[in-house]
Amino acid sequence: SLYLPSSGHVDVAAAHAAVRKLPDVKRKRILVAGGAGFVGSHLVDRLMLMGYEVIVADNLFTGSKRNIEHWIGHPHFEFIRHDVVDPLMVEVDQIYNLACPASPPHYQLNPVKTVKTSVMGTINMLGLAKRVKARFLLTSTSEIYGDPLEHPQKESYWGNVNPIGPRACYDEGKRVAETLTYAYRQQNGVEVRVARIFNTFGPRMNAADGRVVSNFVLQALSGKDITVYGDGTQTRSFQYVHDLVDGLVALMEGECSEPVNLGNPEEYTIQTFAEIARNLIGRESRIVNLPATQDDPKQRRPDISRAKEELRWEPRFSVKQGIEETVEYFRMLKEAGYIK
Ligand code: NAD
Ligand code: UDP
Ligand code: UDP
Repeated sequence: SLYLPSSGHVDVAAAHAAVRKLPDVKRKRILVAGGAGFVGSHLVDRLMLMGYEVIVADNLFTGSKRNIEHWIGHPHFEFIRHDVVDPLMVEVDQIYNLACPASPPHYQLNPVKTVKTSVMGTINMLGLAKRVKARFLLTSTSEIYGDPLEHPQKESYWGNVNPIGPRACYDEGKRVAETLTYAYRQQNGVEVRVARIFNTFGPRMNAADGRVVSNFVLQALSGKDITVYGDGTQTRSFQYVHDLVDGLVALMEGECSEPVNLGNPEEYTIQTFAEIARNLIGRESRIVNLPATQDDPKQRRPDISRAKEELRWEPRFSVKQGIEETVEYFRMLKEAGYIK
């Protein structure tokens, strides 16, 4: 297999050979904004292996060249260091817009920039889509449902978002990005797709971005305290990144232009999740409770009926399988000295 779970990196020679074997036809050209990030780099791998030409535009704020280094120099691949807040002129058939920091500590670092990235960045990507008649896909988020009063969350739910809280720059930014997406569809006939992504994890998650999966795995690997924020009764549903990539490609290639939830309905309390991480890694970490963060959603689980019906998609990986591979990835990074 091309994907090596233990390293989280692609076998470069095998990947290049697989792409060389693909028939020589007119290839679609695809822009992945945010393609050097965690999800973006896995999507790029998939698109390259499907034989497309891929352009990544990324400002490397939370992403890294290391995530895509195995494609640099490949004739079908191009990397542009670019901030989506500025206009971009390229000729492409499809645009995946993933550019946006995704973890709370990162998106709260510079909230004004987070809003600009979602608003101006999405306008630029939609302006580009309009000019070149490309299909546009927005990676929205379960965060648009806020602290949900409906459970599980269906796409028809309008959400419960604090417009001025610490998460607002991200949540409201994505809500406007969705609004812009449908405004360009209505006003300019742009073909659009909207994925509402639920918590996703896997190799190449940024080790320093403070998300729960990377935090717990790294804490357990070092024998440090596992930090549960609040009493740990809040829930999340976790999907493995390869399932998400399947869903994103199915959505882009399919006919559904309504928003679609992409997530794994396997739901855990954060307390239980901490115990799973500790037991899996087998170190003597203590589980400690720190103060809760403001506006932390209390429950989150996707209703994925629409994705099942419209895309014939559902997750194939259990959380357990995904976590085991993610643990191997972080263990490898630690042993190689990339992270402490
Ligand atoms: P990530 O932080 O790893 O990736 C985001 C990428 O966008 C990074 O490479 C970053 O450098 C780039 N970027 C940020 N601001 C930019 C800008 N102004 N111009 C150009 N590039 C910029 O996060 P991820 O987990 O890979 O998330 C990818 C997308 O999926 C994001 O839009 C995120 O909101 C969405 N999403 C992710 C999750 C999840 O659990 N991972 C859940 C819901 C939604
Ligand atoms: N844009 C871009 N690349 C393109 C076409 C447009 O980055 O190939 C940007 C453009 O700079 C503008 C935005 O997309 O700021 C919105 O474009 P649109 O044509 O919708 O609006 P207008 O240019 O009329 O403001
Ligand atoms: N969380 C935690 N300890 C950590 C990091 C996160 O208890 O070290 C909690 C956090 O409060 C939230 C959940 O885990 O309830 C998911 O957090 P994450 O930042 O990964 O994603 P999001 O809140 O955006 O779903």
